[in-house]
Amino acid sequence: MPCGQRAALARCLPGIPLKHETKPVSPAAALAALRPSACPGLVRVVAARDGGLCRIRLPGGILSAARARALAGAASTHAAGVLELTNRANVQIRGVRAGEEANLSAALIGAGLGPAGIDAASPVAQACAADELRNVMLSPLAALDTAAYDTTALAAALIDMMRREPRFAALSPKFALQLDGGERLAMLEHPHDIWLAAQRRGAAVRFVLGLAGCPTGRPIGALAVDDVCASIRALLHAFLDLAGADKTRMRDVLAAHSPDTLLHRAQRHGEFALLRDDALYAWRRTASDAGMRLGAHALNADGGGYVGAQPALGRIDANTLRALAALAEASGDATLRVTPWQGVLLPNVRARAMPAVLERLRALGLVCASADPLARLVACTGSTGCAKSRADTKADALRLAALLPAGAGMHLSGCERACAAAHRAPFTLLARAPGQYDLYERDDTATGFGRLVAPDLTIEAAARALAQRPRSTHDG
Ligand code: SF4
Repeated sequence: MPCGQRAALARCLPGIPLKHETKPVSPAAALAALRPSACPGLVRVVAARDGGLCRIRLPGGILSAARARALAGAASTHAAGVLELTNRANVQIRGVRAGEEANLSAALIGAGLGPAGIDAASPVAQACAADELRNVMLSPLAALDTAAYDTTALAAALIDMMRREPRFAALSPKFALQLDGGERLAMLEHPHDIWLAAQRRGAAVRFVLGLAGCPTGRPIGALAVDDVCASIRALLHAFLDLAGADKTRMRDVLAAHSPDTLLHRAQRHGEFALLRDDALYAWRRTASDAGMRLGAHALNADGGGYVGAQPALGRIDANTLRALAALAEASGDATLRVTPWQGVLLPNVRARAMPAVLERLRALGLVCASADPLARLVACTGSTGCAKSRADTKADALRLAALLPAGAGMHLSGCERACAAAHRAPFTLLARAPGQYDLYERDDTATGFGRLVAPDLTIEAAARALAQRPRSTHDG
């Protein structure tokens, strides 16, 4: 263990004899004692079948080309050179080598991929808490789509507010907020503990507020833009008051308490200026076109815009990430946007450069069109990386891609935890054994993955069963 990391751990773990330790104490083990969680993070590198797993949160999914290169370098130097784009618009490095965890975290923090104000000498627990308070989802078009409210500054203010409040370190690493500016491309299916969606009222904007759902759901009130940070602070305190030791998510608290109980509690924690009027209940979030995540799209009057693509099943190697960084520098604004569809956008590409950028993304092996079967498949890590998996879901998904009926989408899951899908997919193949799956169809009257359609199928039989379903059931 490097001296700096040893000193940092000693500061936050005075009870552990690090200086003369006979057995190495990994930061992950130390953190498990401090803040128990199985959720990977920047300094919480958790063990997986293929090595350590490190998750790097990217507020708003925004990643500069320089930091993308640093990520690729860290993945090559300290791990197996394999990265994944997640359905929360984050990145994770797989296959971290034993003994390299602290060096990897330090390299990432040194590259500016940690929370603001954290450096490699910061106490590990402080870095961990600050890292885990960055779960604020934005549209991949935040600040790019001129038809929408630019949420980037408000998101930064929310993150800053949360990390300044010591009590919020008690929030679960999974606790997440969505801040929706009304962009034409936004993930509207993943539930968040708290969601805020911009509502235009003439020239003014306010934010509609909802709990344990997404902006297509029923709001509980609205907040003036200037009141958002103070009111969310009060709401988070109220959540922690009611959550106790055993409830970690908003849905758990709402299962035990009414929304009004929560809102009244929030009034005790300072300013909580909730607005309720007829305009709130008449409001509907305009639909988002998920197809806009792929291909070239003009946003500006001069024809410039962005180009979107996704690596097969969200997995990308370090060299491809370096190539994306170079492409963003040469043809865009030297940034990338990771999307919650496990893809990436290159923003601010000039109109005349868009065809060449699209061609280069195809040459790199990325999926660039919704018609590609790989654009309609998601699969969890599977048995090569996860001990819980009953099948090699990634390899099986690649086999299924060649057989998938037109328009059909599918989620493959190695077990019931469904890590790859943050919302219920139209169809799910749940592994029973290597190469064998049960087929489920989404059904709002059923729990879990939905209704069991056919048990114990091979991948070929699953493709045939899917082809026999009515076309109307294929799309999400
Ligand atoms: S869904 Fe299950 S098998 Fe797949 S990665 Fe998650 S825990 Fe592992």
